Amino acid sequence: MPKDSTRAIHEGEEEVLGVSSFITPIYQTAVFPYPLNGERGFRGRPLKYSREDNPTNIVLERRLASLECGEDALVFSSGMAAISTCFFNFLSRGSKLVLSREVYGSTIPLAKSFEKFGVKVELRGPDTEDIVEAVKSGCNVVFVESMSNPILRVVDLDLLASTCRDCRALLIVDNTFATPLNLKPLTRGADVVVHSLTKYIAGHNDVIGGAVVSTGKVIEDLWSWRTRLGCILDPHAAFLVLRGLKTLSARLKVSQENAKAIAEFLEEHSKVSKVYYPGLPSHPTHSVAKRLLRGYGSVLSFELKGDGEVARRFLGELKVVKASPSLGGTETLASHPASSSHKDLPKEERERLGISDSLIRLSVGLEDVNDIVEDIDRALRACSP
Ligand code: PLP
Repeated sequence: MPKDSTRAIHEGEEEVLGVSSFITPIYQTAVFPYPLNGERGFRGRPLKYSREDNPTNIVLERRLASLECGEDALVFSSGMAAISTCFFNFLSRGSKLVLSREVYGSTIPLAKSFEKFGVKVELRGPDTEDIVEAVKSGCNVVFVESMSNPILRVVDLDLLASTCRDCRALLIVDNTFATPLNLKPLTRGADVVVHSLTKYIAGHNDVIGGAVVSTGKVIEDLWSWRTRLGCILDPHAAFLVLRGLKTLSARLKVSQENAKAIAEFLEEHSKVSKVYYPGLPSHPTHSVAKRLLRGYGSVLSFELKGDGEVARRFLGELKVVKASPSLGGTETLASHPASSSHKDLPKEERERLGISDSLIRLSVGLEDVNDIVEDIDRALRACSP
């Protein structure tokens, strides 16, 4: 089978609607000729209406399924739409969801909103052992992120997946931070993978999208939900994601090299008290990361010596690096989790997760690494005495 970087460029392209083209076109159409003779389109269903299926999306779905080693995939209007659709499909009255307390800020209130339908939600972690303990005491669905935000803890998927299998719990893994190039959770025993395509996979901070990859049966069920909820990805957005995905391997290579160099630079810096990057031996889950990941990603976090005010001044001093909470794009972005992604968590909960007021998260992009280092160094010197 061709390697990931080759499949990220070519997979699924040749067969759509029987027309071969070098670049997948945007099927900017809501409707298709009604299949009066029952002609089949995709997944054994006639192609009728773009809220159900669209050929541009189908190419992206085939490519994502191939990269994640799943049987099939669906694309959604956002990462949150992908997660919501999974919750609608897998949760019902009386079921129990174990959720890592380190998942993306909006996933927690989304899960909790299912409590009104009779779903029990238990927040556990951040350590895998604590999540495993919760699974052993009984649950139906487990939801974790393969690499957590902003501390970049790597979940021990081997341990968690085997526990879920023994306890008959369904394991959903949000693989946004790791990308299918660095980790393929389905090959480690997960049942379902979700992505925010908005991040590394599209990679240019110019489109919002989400995806789910799993077995054909699960995707069939999720397809019905997606059609009812009306949260399919727009074909123009799918085109942008396909274009971004072609360069994922090259982008990741450069941004990871940059991130490693910046993490090492920050570890030695007099204004920095702590650095979190899974590729550093000092990271709390470095040994798990070494076992599971092909690369350590390009997001890192660091604690400034000082308080939240110093962190805000630091962000204000940056020039090349932009202050913004997203990640995985060509631009280097810095964010202050305590006042952005994690501001709704009580302070004690943030502290428990290691999110201090002076913590900065950096998503390292593709600029020349010396320009990023210079910018960060200057801002660090300017923000505190
Ligand atoms: N999952 C993770 C890990 C995220 O970081 C995000 C957004 O930041 C999401 C899901 C939600 O994705 P989207 O913004 O595309 O809805």
